[in-house]
Amino acid sequence: MFYDLIVRGNLVLEDGVIFGEVGVKNETIHHIAPAGSLLGARTLDFGECYVFPGMIDAHVHCFSNPLEGFVTTSSSAAAGGITTMLDMPYDLPAPINSASLLEQKIERLNREALIDIGLWATIAKTGGTDEIIPLAKAGAIAFKMSTFETDPHRFPEIPDSEIMRAMALIRETGLRAAFHAENNELIKSLTKEYMDAGRLYARAHMETRPPVTETSAVLKVLEFAYWTGVKVHIVHVSHPRTIELIKRYKDDQVDVTCETCYPYLLMDVSALEKFGPAAKNNPPLRLAQDAAKLWEQQRKGGINIITSDHAPWGADRKEAGKDNIFLAASGMPGVEIMVPLLFDRAVIQEGVPPEEFAKWMAQSPAEVFGIPGKGKIELGFDADFTVIDPLQSWTIDQTKLLSHSKLSPFHQHKVQGKIRHTIVRGRSVYDGERIVAQPGSGQFIAGAAYKREVVSS
Ligand SMILES: [Zn+2]
Repeated sequence: MFYDLIVRGNLVLEDGVIFGEVGVKNETIHHIAPAGSLLGARTLDFGECYVFPGMIDAHVHCFSNPLEGFVTTSSSAAAGGITTMLDMPYDLPAPINSASLLEQKIERLNREALIDIGLWATIAKTGGTDEIIPLAKAGAIAFKMSTFETDPHRFPEIPDSEIMRAMALIRETGLRAAFHAENNELIKSLTKEYMDAGRLYARAHMETRPPVTETSAVLKVLEFAYWTGVKVHIVHVSHPRTIELIKRYKDDQVDVTCETCYPYLLMDVSALEKFGPAAKNNPPLRLAQDAAKLWEQQRKGGINIITSDHAPWGADRKEAGKDNIFLAASGMPGVEIMVPLLFDRAVIQEGVPPEEFAKWMAQSPAEVFGIPGKGKIELGFDADFTVIDPLQSWTIDQTKLLSHSKLSPFHQHKVQGKIRHTIVRGRSVYDGERIVAQPGSGQFIAGAAYKREVVSS
């Protein structure tokens, strides 16, 4: 067989690393062989670099800032070694809570994406559950809801009765119902107390969202999932006790998965005190001992996936909180730095085997969200690769991020391990220095209920 492309290097396969090569034909992996044994039109020889399966970021917000969008975020993601991302539904001005809005977004995705992208859907605060089945059929990858109100229209708190109705319907679709789980009432009243007292310093963001505001909201969601039987997913877990609660419900046969985000594993509240708004996210960064326990959970397999929760706020939305942390937008950019930062911490510093790291960053997100053909270097799988040079050191420069958002607490942070190349379905998207693909070369990844008959009982 004469292949379209041969990719050579230290291939990170499911059960270990081999020095070999992959033969790519028609965008998929056709052959895995010892180095130097295949023939093809083009060879990309990465020497001793690791060739990982394409990494997946399941939690990205392209459109919470209209200046960002698919082209910018997917370029930034490709430069960060991400080959597939799942974009959240909380778009400005209109969240994706109807099939027609999802269809419009898919059209835009097909014109603008540089990597492969799946789309989350959500529901209106009230009266929106009729759109759940149409959204699933239109290709939503999963549903996201919140128990915390960030914005009454774009990012609402969904009342309990609507959550129960939604869960019953989502169960029929077979998709996952994911929750931003924070206790709205507790947080709002604590925040008011602090603001009235003029306690506006950076750490106040954490003090007004103590761990119980996360765990009590998660507990409710888990209990609702127990009674409705829906597959549930808890996004951005910040505290180790949440993982303990999830474990108990797993023992109760609830199909629950969870994620944490790179900031919770790599920083603690001291970063919020040091960097202020740039390190503000929801839920907030926790105490150093909590971050350490969360990392322990990650190493033990208690956490399914790690995401960036990339939120591309412009400097203006962050600077607004310079003297009053409550006025700063929550979230930080991440698609471009998450993989190198975690590779450095896990593989370089702690000796996590590369094949284990591949499970965290590629295989597990593909499994949690049911994305066929992605997440592994295996015959018949998409030819998606993240190539990392483990010997190269570099320094993060926030001004050079491709995202619109150029404010990161990791600015000037030294990292070992650099993205050398990013390949999506056999096509180079990032060559280690620049973006080399065109908008529209990425594809829409439909959810498991796409165009399928779903009967609601
Ligand atoms: Zn988010």
